[in-house]
Amino acid sequence: MALIEVKNVKYAYNFNEQDTIIAVNDVSFSIEEGEFVALVGHNGSGKSTLAKMLNGLIVPMSGDVLIDGMNTRDDDLLYDIRRQLGVVFQNPDNQMVATIIEDDIAFGPENLGLEPQEIEKRVDWALNAVGMQQYRKGMPFRLSGGQKQRIAIAGVLAIAPRVLVLDESTSMLDPKGRAEVLDIIKQLRAEQKLTVVLITHYMDEATEADRIIVLNKGKIAYEGGKEIFLREDELKSYGLDVPVHIHIANTLRKSGMDIKNIWTQKELEDEICRLL
Ligand code: ADP
Ligand code: MG
Repeated sequence: MALIEVKNVKYAYNFNEQDTIIAVNDVSFSIEEGEFVALVGHNGSGKSTLAKMLNGLIVPMSGDVLIDGMNTRDDDLLYDIRRQLGVVFQNPDNQMVATIIEDDIAFGPENLGLEPQEIEKRVDWALNAVGMQQYRKGMPFRLSGGQKQRIAIAGVLAIAPRVLVLDESTSMLDPKGRAEVLDIIKQLRAEQKLTVVLITHYMDEATEADRIIVLNKGKIAYEGGKEIFLREDELKSYGLDVPVHIHIANTLRKSGMDIKNIWTQKELEDEICRLL
């Protein structure tokens, strides 16, 4: 069985009133341990609703979500589910609980009932992972939006989940900061068998993933490999842009340059270096 199983889930807001918004409509997919999946879709396509269903913050109206075989409908399993799958949401302000940064990061491990020494170790490690060690004694409200996002990521990392779900968690970072967080993710995946679900509307980031799931109007419009990034018109029909570096490669190729198919920014850089 896959680590994440989403089976025919449906979720609607205001479903007792006349204006029903079906946010997620009969969505199914599964994710194996160790995979790096990008979940992309334009605003309002249902990404965050799906993210909330993954850790049982909301339960589907119909269908099921299973994390390592545990159904999110079962309240008794929620603790174990959230230990395995951590979600970092878009707005870090809603995720800060303590007045001192290191206490905020310790909150998750404390709730797991870990020994103080182990908690200290994890806080230390998580702060290093996101490059925020020097701020540990500081107060969260003094931080910039991007720094808060790093702390929110550290807070989830400290729980040492098997799955990390990032719901637009780098939206407040500048391109350099986003690249740094992506590097952290890659490093964690190399060191551990971390499974990553990256929810993003930055198509450049999505090209780093092994598999792409496109949501459009609450439904899965595409699930598969990176070849979707070559289909400019199809992406546009989902309200998505072509990743900039793939567009550059396509344009150079059209102008007669002998450029191979590239997916990541790094691959484009290497390809240009090769040609020069
Ligand atoms: P995304 O994260 O892809 O932008 P969301 O899951 O946030 O999409 O939203 C999907 C749809 O559900 C949108 O039409 C949005 O307006 C609606 N929606 C999201 N949250 C709520 C809510 N709390 N109440 C009512 N409608 C909501
Ligand atoms: Mg969202």
